Amino acid sequence: MAFQLKDFLLYPPQIWACHQRLQDAQYWSPEQRRADTQTNLARLLHHAVTNVPYYRRTLAPYQDRFAGMIERLDLSELPILTKQQIRDHGQELWADGHAAYKPSVAQTSGTTGSPTKFLVDRQSNITHFASIWTMLNWVGYRFGDRFADLTGGERAGEPMYARDLRSAHLSRENVQRYARRLRRFEPVVFKAIPSSMYIYCRWLEEAGLESYQPRAVLTCAETLHDHYRAKIQDVFHCRLFDFYNQNERACLFSTCEHGRYHIHEDYSYVELIDNDTPGRAQVVTTTTNNFVMPLIRYQTNDLVEVGDGTGCPCGRTYPTVARVIGRADDIVVTPDGRFHSSFEFILERMENIRMTQIVQDDVDHIDVRLVPTPSFDRRTDLRRLEDELRAWLGDDIDIGFSFHTALQPGRTGKIPFVISRPGRELLT
Ligand SMILES: [Zn+2]
Repeated sequence: MAFQLKDFLLYPPQIWACHQRLQDAQYWSPEQRRADTQTNLARLLHHAVTNVPYYRRTLAPYQDRFAGMIERLDLSELPILTKQQIRDHGQELWADGHAAYKPSVAQTSGTTGSPTKFLVDRQSNITHFASIWTMLNWVGYRFGDRFADLTGGERAGEPMYARDLRSAHLSRENVQRYARRLRRFEPVVFKAIPSSMYIYCRWLEEAGLESYQPRAVLTCAETLHDHYRAKIQDVFHCRLFDFYNQNERACLFSTCEHGRYHIHEDYSYVELIDNDTPGRAQVVTTTTNNFVMPLIRYQTNDLVEVGDGTGCPCGRTYPTVARVIGRADDIVVTPDGRFHSSFEFILERMENIRMTQIVQDDVDHIDVRLVPTPSFDRRTDLRRLEDELRAWLGDDIDIGFSFHTALQPGRTGKIPFVISRPGRELLT
């Protein structure tokens, strides 16, 4: 959860008030929600075309028709904003006098594109915190409850904590230690990315170990495949929740107790645009709370299965989708039996790499394919990247680098970040 504690400490009353509002808003009537969305969009579009250089240029020709679009809740006339356009126009998307918004920087990694800096302002932080808090309430979490996180965002070799189990350390050999720690700590909610949790469950079963039973397991950041879901529920005997959110805070979808993904419409305005595959749609979002760098009709490149669109038995009136099809990469397996599903945090810091792909045919070798920017320095940048990867993967794996001008998309049209034969074997 990318909470910045200092933000929360700076303005808890606003976050509390926003959370209170969201408690009501999730049950609003469709009319009430439509009116609220119209108000938010009107304010956002007016601000963008007045105060943001990029939109002054691109949206001015449409300004006369804003009122009609908002009335119909139909932004389809307006241009789509792609990730490439954000990379190309970067600071032109920052509002005039952006420093006055006291923004913080959110960064996306150069996995299949160069790292991009997004500015997020105070109101965006407030909405984000309050929405995540609401989402955690759906999961059954209350402030003060114990929470464990099996994520990989630290270097191997660092100590393993009860709250933060670091998937980077997990191996078949030490799975018993993890299970023991969890039983002792008894977190109410146990969070992980789906592939890590799936592997943990399989290794637990192989070792003949029983898991303690949390109130809920919470997953995020990858596609939650059916076989992952079945295994996790089999092992934990509890409810499984999943959510979809991005560093650039484009949108928030999260499952309720009935397993449907609700679109948090107070977070952003989401359009589901027809895809070539029947039953699937692209997610395009307009951020209505971040005035320092508004994203209007931002193409997330993620897909959803739209489902039947009927109301959810939970009674919440946010629209639903059946499934989010986000990232689905392989994982890298190391010779000492560990695995790694996330390298984003390394690439977020590598500004001179436009695209990256890791290919692993055997457990003792990876080939890192790089599309460098013109400023890439083979001595400093390459050394740094190798050091970072080495810290994660250990000394027993051979790391080769190759340089490319472009990378080929896979069958889905996306460029997979990791292609690993040993990884795929572990995930099936
Ligand atoms: Zn529901």
